[in-house]
Amino acid sequence: NADQVKRPGVEKYLEDKVIIIDPGHGGRDSGTIGVGGTLEKNLTIQTAELLRDKLQAAGAKVILTRSSNTYVALPSRVSISHIHNADAFISLHYDSTIDQITSGITTYYYHGYQQALASSIAHSLGSTMQVPNRGYRFGDYHVIRENKRVAALIELGYLSNPVDELTITTNEYQETVTSAIYNGLARYFK
Ligand SMILES: [Zn+2]
Repeated sequence: NADQVKRPGVEKYLEDKVIIIDPGHGGRDSGTIGVGGTLEKNLTIQTAELLRDKLQAAGAKVILTRSSNTYVALPSRVSISHIHNADAFISLHYDSTIDQITSGITTYYYHGYQQALASSIAHSLGSTMQVPNRGYRFGDYHVIRENKRVAALIELGYLSNPVDELTITTNEYQETVTSAIYNGLARYFK
């Protein structure tokens, strides 16, 4: 909840932690395209840069798997996690499905050793978001499946849902969701 996000002192758990942020898609891979035209690849880099700024302010060592509109293959993203011995790897995505009703945020882990991080992030996302929190669950995604480090993949709302799309592209949502992920990471390292 909001009190937990703002609780002073939580930042100390992030100091010197190596955190890889993986903005989904990029370059020739646009990811999903919203009903209103939002490109997933543009929104993931925006979210990643905001999250990076918050984590760096707390003293974390943050590396992005891409820093511009470039194509980076999935195995290369995982290699960055291994090369830097990431304390946490966070892959950011926006969701899509065939109907325009499905809404909300889902956090995924693959390996058992990744579950506590997914749980912590999902808990921090709590009910503070402007879209529903669908919780955390197993998900078969390359960047977490092939990752030997603690990793989570977060789908931060549905671009196939016109209401979600309007909400998730606001500065307010971007601020709230990155604060929640920040707090989830800090709680995980506590
Ligand atoms: Zn995606």
